[in-house]
Amino acid sequence: MLDFEQDGEGVRATFSNGEESQADLLIGADGIHSRVREQLTGKLALRYSGYTAWRGIAPTPDKAFQSGETWGKGRRFGLVPLSGEKVYWFATDNRPEGETDDPARRQAELLELFAGWHYPVPELIGTTPRGDILRNDIFDLPPLKKWSVGRVTLLGDAAHAMTPNLGQGACQAIEDAVTLAGCLTRFEEVSEALARYEALRRPRTARITRQARQVGEIGQWGHPAAVWLRQHFARLLLPVLQPRLLDPILSYEPDRSGKQFPPTT
Ligand SMILES: Cc1cc2nc3c(=O)[nH]c(=O)nc-3n(C[C@H](O)[C@H](O)[C@H](O)COP(=O)(O)OP(=O)(O)OC[C@H]3O[C@@H](n4cnc5c(N)ncnc54)[C@H](O)[C@@H]3O)c2cc1C
Repeated sequence: MLDFEQDGEGVRATFSNGEESQADLLIGADGIHSRVREQLTGKLALRYSGYTAWRGIAPTPDKAFQSGETWGKGRRFGLVPLSGEKVYWFATDNRPEGETDDPARRQAELLELFAGWHYPVPELIGTTPRGDILRNDIFDLPPLKKWSVGRVTLLGDAAHAMTPNLGQGACQAIEDAVTLAGCLTRFEEVSEALARYEALRRPRTARITRQARQVGEIGQWGHPAAVWLRQHFARLLLPVLQPRLLDPILSYEPDRSGKQFPPTT
């Protein structure tokens, strides 16, 4: 989609192949670089997190893995077992924004970076098909003050791109969709439905965006004194912080009716 125009009757979207489409509403679910958002709010600067991330899926016959993360000095490694003898893994490292690499050297570079880390870190990197390792600089979007205008709204990363530290980007997009569907069912007037949807979703997604960023900042600490402190206090603080941070995220029931107001969490 290139462009849209709206009036009291509907929204008209124009596409790069010259086609046009008319509808009652437009949902900009077009990701972190959203064109719809740019037209609604003007161009906004994304915030670079200070680190880059690699991701891969490794085949493994070892069924004993549990999901988890290991935090080192300015770098992290995490894994999530998948079905079918596969493990999803990710790795991070503090890097300048926009650094490029040679994809053919990516696996070797990662093996150097994580040499000496505990089992199965080097093993998972080493058994991932070489061409299948993704690398992305990590950005988020400072929480928006508004993301709906009239018959146009945003959903998912277009509305609230967040760092992946709480594993919530796609999850929040799904919650958006459930809530938006509820609001559109409840309110006849499209602009009213979109305003309610935004009011229900904006506080929660802004809070999770902030928390995800903070978790990433602490996880990426690289100064030896900070890392020492983190290591020693983690054992004490994690049992207290983890339920306070994760329980409200994971126990949330999205509003399917558009009725719940003000939002509960
Ligand atoms: C390293 C990393 C790890 C992550 N880990 C997790 C995780 O564990 N759990 C989790 O929940 N989330 C995770 N995420 C976040 C998750 O990937 C995103 O939040 C999610 O993909 C957002 O979905 P979306 O549909 O809003 O946007 P996208 O998935 O970006 O989809 C947007 C779509 O819009 C299309 N598009 C863009 N511009 C236009 C245009 N002008 N016209 C038409 N179409 C257009 C794009 O081609 C794309 O298909 C991670 C992200 C990263 C980078």
